[in-house]
Amino acid sequence: MAEVLDERHAVYVGSFDPPTLGHCDIITRGAGLFHRVTVGIGINPGKTPLFSSDERLELLREIVSPLENVEVACFEGLAVDFVRQCGASVMLRGMRTLTDIEAEFTLTLANRCLAPDIETVFLMASEQYTSISSTLIKQIAGMGRGESTEQLIEFVPESVVEPLLKKFRS
Ligand code: ADP
Repeated sequence: MAEVLDERHAVYVGSFDPPTLGHCDIITRGAGLFHRVTVGIGINPGKTPLFSSDERLELLREIVSPLENVEVACFEGLAVDFVRQCGASVMLRGMRTLTDIEAEFTLTLANRCLAPDIETVFLMASEQYTSISSTLIKQIAGMGRGESTEQLIEFVPESVVEPLLKKFRS
């Protein structure tokens, strides 16, 4: 019997190292569009993240706590497999720039080959968050040597500022 995937359930996958205001915007807007949103933190054993998977899980769980229809989980392996495991039929992604479009297009075509029954839905970044990336945030925090609260508050949720600064103090 063919499995039934829920088309009102979207899974938003990413590294979230760390979660940013851009990610939060996509999560909040996704939660308004779909009945249920699962935020999937991708664990890549080949990469050394700044925040461990447990730390990212804790940060994101706190961020989404006001949103009743959003949950957070970690996964290893292919994102489409995780979406299927969740019973969802939608993969949610954010889109910022032309460079994002090119990369996401390639990824989406590959995912479509792997899982034709899972649809990728893109939300354009809100204007004020277009230039925000986790990489940029780590650079700013690193350059300020753990002392740039005022700058960081423009880019990450308040609850992420202190854990981020702590990573660069010592
Ligand atoms: P990945 O390593 O999979 O790109 P990220 O955590 O960087 O993981 O991003 C996860 C998703 O969120 C991607 O679809 C990315 O394009 C999107 N995204 C990242 N930053 C923003 C932002 N500032 N505004 C909107 N979408 C974003």
